[in-house]
Amino acid sequence: AGARVSGAGAVLLGIDHVDKRFGFGAGQIAALDDATFEIRDNEFFTLLGPSGCGKTTLLRIIAGFEHPTSGRVLLDGRDIGHEPPFKRPVNTMFQSYALFPHLNVRQNIAYGLEMLRWKPADIKRRVDEVLELVQMPAFADRRTTQMSGGQQQRIALARALAPRPRVLLLDEPLSALDLKLRKAMQGELKRLQKETSLTFVMVTHDQEEALALSDRIAVMNKGKVLQVAAPAEIYARPSTCFVADFIGEANLIPSGLVGRPEGRTISIRPEQISVDPRPAAGHRGIAATVTGVTFLGADTLIEARCTGDISIRARLRGAVSGISVGERAEFSWDRANEWMLDA
Ligand code: ATP
Repeated sequence: AGARVSGAGAVLLGIDHVDKRFGFGAGQIAALDDATFEIRDNEFFTLLGPSGCGKTTLLRIIAGFEHPTSGRVLLDGRDIGHEPPFKRPVNTMFQSYALFPHLNVRQNIAYGLEMLRWKPADIKRRVDEVLELVQMPAFADRRTTQMSGGQQQRIALARALAPRPRVLLLDEPLSALDLKLRKAMQGELKRLQKETSLTFVMVTHDQEEALALSDRIAVMNKGKVLQVAAPAEIYARPSTCFVADFIGEANLIPSGLVGRPEGRTISIRPEQISVDPRPAAGHRGIAATVTGVTFLGADTLIEARCTGDISIRARLRGAVSGISVGERAEFSWDRANEWMLDA
């Protein structure tokens, strides 16, 4: 868990045994169950998990829109868990962007600074600065209703950055964009985080996005934080079967099937498996019947059934010939690449 992150500094935010329950009695929902971890200064941090896992609730607790049922939210070691949102050095960029349609770009960005009673000259300077930062200086006088999704996104980012928060919260920031624009904006978000040296905390259910952008990720499921670590660490050493399966693809094979003591599960990534009648020395192998061969361009996915309902997937480079559906084949992998999990 304690891998060093380049550029990230001291602990900024502490989430300390945070529980959040909604409702009463039998209808009560535990949205967060004992969440505990730290977010560092200048870190791109992501809350990742499936729908309903509690990630938005956690973001809203950091923002101050919700309060923990129990536990603390610490900023520089001070408990801010019951401070109102406007008193926190934290700002949120919402999924919907929430731009005002009747105001132009400059007025949209200035609005929050006026609320904070900044001087007009400072507001003007800061608006120009953040428009420069998101590469939209030519758009100052435009109506936001006349802009594309990507442009609106940049303006929403500029507006959220304008009051110089220490933490920027991003709730599914790219989910409204089409795939191509989404990829472009991923790079943009990363650049902005590095350029501003702010702490970004992003919510997403998209594991590829989380891997591509984050210094560290908290993987959540059913209100619990299952693992907090750098992307490569989570990918190579997932803490549970859920994490292994949620981050990338994983083959989860009962250890008994490959001659290991039972009661554990072996996790092995599809790209680390070869399909070869004569496995190399030091490799572990398992025989399986091929059920699918799918050419995907850069690689080919081979799916097969071992015994019972245990299946295995291998991702081989390029186009593959000589393996066909219905055949028995030997799937093998370097033991150094397998990872043991408690079942
Ligand atoms: P999604 O990706 O779908 O937004 P999420 O991981 O962000 O999901 P949350 O929105 O944090 O999940 O919700 C966690 C759980 O808490 C869910 O079961 C949700 O129905 C419940 N919940 C969230 N907010 C409230 C509320 N205000 N009142 C009652 N239940 C709530």
